[in-house]
Amino acid sequence: MKHLSEIQISIESLLKNVRALKAICPDEADFIAVVKGNAYGHGLAPIVEVLEPVVDGFQIDDVEELQELRKHTSKRALVLGYVPCSALEEAVRLGGELAIYDVQRLPELQRIAEDLGVRPKLHLKLDALLGRQGLLPDDVPAFLHRLAEFPGLDVIALYGHFANIEDTTDLTHANAQVDIFNKVHSSLVSAGLSQLSRHLSATSGLMVYEPSVRGNNLVRVGVGLYGLYPSASLARTQARLELEPVMRWTSHLAQVKFLPAGHPVGYGLTFVTWRPTLIGIVPQGYSDGYDRGLSNAGEVLIHGKRCPIVGRIAMNMFAVDLTHAPEAKAEDEVVLLGDQGSDRITAEELAARLGTINYEVVTRVSPLLPRLLL
Ligand SMILES: *Cc1c(COP(=O)(O)O)cnc(C)c1O
Repeated sequence: MKHLSEIQISIESLLKNVRALKAICPDEADFIAVVKGNAYGHGLAPIVEVLEPVVDGFQIDDVEELQELRKHTSKRALVLGYVPCSALEEAVRLGGELAIYDVQRLPELQRIAEDLGVRPKLHLKLDALLGRQGLLPDDVPAFLHRLAEFPGLDVIALYGHFANIEDTTDLTHANAQVDIFNKVHSSLVSAGLSQLSRHLSATSGLMVYEPSVRGNNLVRVGVGLYGLYPSASLARTQARLELEPVMRWTSHLAQVKFLPAGHPVGYGLTFVTWRPTLIGIVPQGYSDGYDRGLSNAGEVLIHGKRCPIVGRIAMNMFAVDLTHAPEAKAEDEVVLLGDQGSDRITAEELAARLGTINYEVVTRVSPLLPRLLL
């Protein structure tokens, strides 16, 4: 055992997912890998190391992630979250392409352009019926008017983001978003931004929307890379893509022992044995990102068998009932997420137990756990 607990990353599955997703990506679109949130918990460094040769660039959220990304690649880097004024210079210096959606930061960007002698690349974010970050369509003319005062800046793209495309087969809202997006894009092209590229799709848009349109220059693919579908309905309708989960989370049993009948297990005495019970202690807890909501609810794999969690998840450990894996002994492998033998614990299964989504389950895995490329 090299590490007591670790996050194993399957290079083969990661590359297989890229191939499957590239196969549905329009030829004219750059394939941008979204690696924000520590590559959705998989580890920025190992994921970028594997993806570097096979993608056109990367998307992250902020300047700290850009700094980390630049240790591993000089390819395109889209910083689409918020960059405070004080960090803009660093972001431009590192060659980040930045989201812009208001006029407040234009003067500072112009100053940076002059000081560094570069033309910052900006992606104008349109808030077309999403109600999140972005410039409202009605505010586009005023933005454009102001932009003319800052000739050192390159607005290279208009982009949008779908609000409701993965959980529904009713694309009314998505289509309304696209209509507004198209109108604004045309108006900007007519207003002189003739080279303005455009992008709208994350993984779900790549699956649902891109196949029926032309002319988008880029796709921003996140969750699919990691072998996860954006929703249960897309997992069904897009099953032919055969995306494979990339993350496997393992630990090893710290202790195995019999507890007599009537013995409490863990904080709050939320579980009491009703018969002599073989118990295993797993040295992972909520500090590692293993959600406390799995107390008395989750399962792990040991010797390929499902072993239920008993009692509460603590900060650094929890207990499992080893009745179904009686051969278990200390230091045997425990799988918290991923496969062992012929069974598999999926992010979707944990998400369902926790009332959340697969994205959150993997993204919350502690960045302190070692990541291993296999
Ligand atoms: C996170 C994010 C993506 C990637 O979404 P997935 O569903 O993981 O593919 C794309 N675009 C924007 C703006 C995002 O915030």
